[in-house]
Amino acid sequence: MPFSVAIIGAGPSGFYTAEALRRSERDYRIDLLEGLPTPFGLIRSGVAPDHQSTKRVARSYERTAADKAVRYYGNVQVGRDIGLAELRRLYDAVVIAVGAPLDRDLNLPGGDKTGVYGSAAFVGWYNGHPTHRDLEPDLNVTAVAVIGNGNVALDIARVLVKTPAEMADTDLPEHAAQVLHAAPVRDVHLIGRRGPLEAKFTNVELREMGQLSDALPLVDGGQLPMAPNPAASERDQRLQAKNLETLRSFTALDDRGQGKRVHFQFFLRPLEVLGDGHVEGLRLERTRLEEGRVVGTGETIDLPCGAVIAAIGTRAQPLEGLPFDERSGIVVNRRGRVAKGLYVVGWARRGPTGVIGTNKPDADEIARHIEADLTEAKATPGHHTGRAALEDLLAERGVTWVSFDDWKAIEAAEIEAAAPGMPRKKLISIAEMLAVLDGPSSPGE
Ligand code: NAP
Repeated sequence: MPFSVAIIGAGPSGFYTAEALRRSERDYRIDLLEGLPTPFGLIRSGVAPDHQSTKRVARSYERTAADKAVRYYGNVQVGRDIGLAELRRLYDAVVIAVGAPLDRDLNLPGGDKTGVYGSAAFVGWYNGHPTHRDLEPDLNVTAVAVIGNGNVALDIARVLVKTPAEMADTDLPEHAAQVLHAAPVRDVHLIGRRGPLEAKFTNVELREMGQLSDALPLVDGGQLPMAPNPAASERDQRLQAKNLETLRSFTALDDRGQGKRVHFQFFLRPLEVLGDGHVEGLRLERTRLEEGRVVGTGETIDLPCGAVIAAIGTRAQPLEGLPFDERSGIVVNRRGRVAKGLYVVGWARRGPTGVIGTNKPDADEIARHIEADLTEAKATPGHHTGRAALEDLLAERGVTWVSFDDWKAIEAAEIEAAAPGMPRKKLISIAEMLAVLDGPSSPGE
């Protein structure tokens, strides 16, 4: 008899947890519950559409899903279709793997003006996430300010300035392509409240900004220090040196008459979004660093722009019955343990940091915790009905869940509908996705 584990969320951290449990010596039956019909979380709706090679990691998740021990229940929202407390009664262990899908509040005067968007919503919109597809950002503007110096800010800037030809082999959905490619955006300002050494850009992503066909990256060479911070770790110094070299190379790039500019603006912190109802600018204060802390100098600048996108990090979504730390936006946990039989993994555990693979050791640790806790409790399998009871409950409640085979059918329809050269034409509403399927899954299918 296997032990039953429910994993809430079928993104990278959920799949890595399923894989770690599948590989462990103990026999587990693992159910992945996902609110959307589509699996893979940020791989599908966070990773930029022009980074298709990064999305290939989903193939390893497909291998996990193919194991009989693992079953996927898409279109099942915990909190709506089934409660966390119910799952905890049905399963030996429950793992929260819901990521950090909500935008952090920019907390600025004027931050509620039309034309201010959070990166989770904006990225979700151009990636065809059903929740954000109707964002309808107003990009009928010539200048956009992107707040933040992380990889998400780079993704957004790049997607804003790439040409239709550069996006032709991506899965950028039509609704977003129409808006992005008709937008008269000429200037994208990347606003960092600290300096080039403190920017969180990874180097491969930063280098891409120098390889765009119709956009020129602009950096004030005077803001670039000669060398990395000697107080930083050796690893960080290496990363800083690479980024400095890349930024310096931008100062030497030729103006080939590119139609667009990406301005790297360091040592500026946002004070206020300006405008009368709609964004007309961003008031910024020059900063300096004192022992790593951002300190305002009192000097302000008004940057004219018609849209502001805050790429300042995201937070997890509180769920009834889960202790939640509002300040840091994560589930309260001790090394991934939340309560007896309840665990948290990935960004919901540690916040939105690291790359996709960072979730792997995290998931391995959770699998070890589950193993150790079952051993310590001298638990015997079979006490928790798990899958059978879940399916009964869902059927009773009339919940149409989507199996992994159903997802493969949705995916096949997306691939078939794609224009030549495109990897897929994403279905962007849940109704469209379900319409592809012949009928709802039935218990035991
Ligand atoms: P991030 O790397 O944490 O960057 C957030 C940025 O926002 C930082 O520059 C931060 O500045 C700034 N910030 C935060 N609060 C701010 C405020 N109130 N005002 C002004 N600036 C503020 O987060 P992210 O870009 O959302 O990325 C999340 C994770 O996903 C990262 O680990 C990233 O590497 C990863 N990711 C990777 C890729 C890729 O590999 N291609 C693509 C996308 C995302 P401070 O440093 O001063 O706090």
